[in-house]
Amino acid sequence: MLDFDTAQKHLIAAGQPQQKTETASLADSAGCVAAETVIATLDLPPADNSAMDGYAIRHADYHDHARFPVQQQSFAGDVPAPLEAGQAIRLYTGSVMPEGADTVIMQEHVTVHDDGITINQPPRQGQHVRLKGEDVARGATIIEAGTRIQAGEIALLASQGIASLQVYSPLKVGLLTTGDELVSPGQPLAPAQIYNSNAPMLATLITQLGAMPHRVIHAADTPEALQSAFDALLADCDLVLTVGGVSVGDKDLVKPTIEKMGGTLDLWRVRMKPGRPVALAHARSTPIICLPGNPVSAYVVFATLVAPAIRAMQGRKQTVPRTQYGCIQTPRTLGGPREEFIRVRIHERADALPAIQPHSDQGSAIIHSLAWADGLARIPADASVQDGETIAFYSLSDCLS
Ligand code: AMP
Ligand code: MG
Repeated sequence: MLDFDTAQKHLIAAGQPQQKTETASLADSAGCVAAETVIATLDLPPADNSAMDGYAIRHADYHDHARFPVQQQSFAGDVPAPLEAGQAIRLYTGSVMPEGADTVIMQEHVTVHDDGITINQPPRQGQHVRLKGEDVARGATIIEAGTRIQAGEIALLASQGIASLQVYSPLKVGLLTTGDELVSPGQPLAPAQIYNSNAPMLATLITQLGAMPHRVIHAADTPEALQSAFDALLADCDLVLTVGGVSVGDKDLVKPTIEKMGGTLDLWRVRMKPGRPVALAHARSTPIICLPGNPVSAYVVFATLVAPAIRAMQGRKQTVPRTQYGCIQTPRTLGGPREEFIRVRIHERADALPAIQPHSDQGSAIIHSLAWADGLARIPADASVQDGETIAFYSLSDCLS
């Protein structure tokens, strides 16, 4: 049996990183992966400016009871005249600092008289001044290639006046669900049939990662149906995911179909729960990852093993989610011979690690636990974890972004 970390490493190395790039407008780049490293060409801010509504003075002019005539007012976007000795210039947040001024007095700390202002508390030299380049200095790296572009990166690019950038073309993922018992939502259900929940679930997970569910096909459990589905998916997808049909049942035909196409397939009994078996195959020079059919298993294997593989293929630097720690709340001892990923809710606490509450039903067919959970806690193989112990967990938003 393959341990979880080894299986994850194999999958991260399974595909080639995306080579195709395209130019995306700033708006269209949201959720994409930067294919270029972007260097700042502007200082941000471009000039010293005021962080407050108030008055600019030269600190050396200040003394108790000093009265500063107001030379002019200067709004954000105006270019003020140089400051005359002993005077003040009325400024607003973002107003450029006048030449010769070095300190801003908040308007709340002055008294306004007919002939000028007096200052009610001794100022510190340089206070409330935002310095040229203090946010971003010209020449600094603002985005590294391999970073997923989100609102913060968009703000940074916009602040440099950048309207488009090179991104990797979105990864095209093909999805194959299998099973004679499955029906699409919206269709009538015959006796003994169930609805296909994996197809829309996995398409959503793929989209959340910034990849494209390019083609989604459901195939009956026949060699012909599977073969024609693979023909369509392998024609133009960068990665194919299959769900179900890979155990040793009579209708588990995914493995023989891949082998019949001349593909290679390693079926791993990954030492994880829920989840085994998981298979990695290659056919027609495209990687194929075969997931177990139970929706909870498919979700957990996607979150822990497939998402890192997709990130690597997207060209992303960060492939695995951040490990966090919390305090498990459990009435019974947890742990078994396999590594367990349990659905949990994470409760933040003021002065302690977060409390981790496991769902009461950890069965691999309990779909409602997926909608309930906001994290996956990791119980190591062969561990015996008691109430109150510190354990590692992943937040689902980290696993799936
Ligand atoms: P299998 O690996 O094909 O034997 O599937 C294992 C279990 O998962 C069976 O109970 C299937 O009915 C169920 N299952 C497989 N695929 C799906 C799907 N797309 N949606 C919902 N349940 C599924
Ligand atoms: Mg099946």
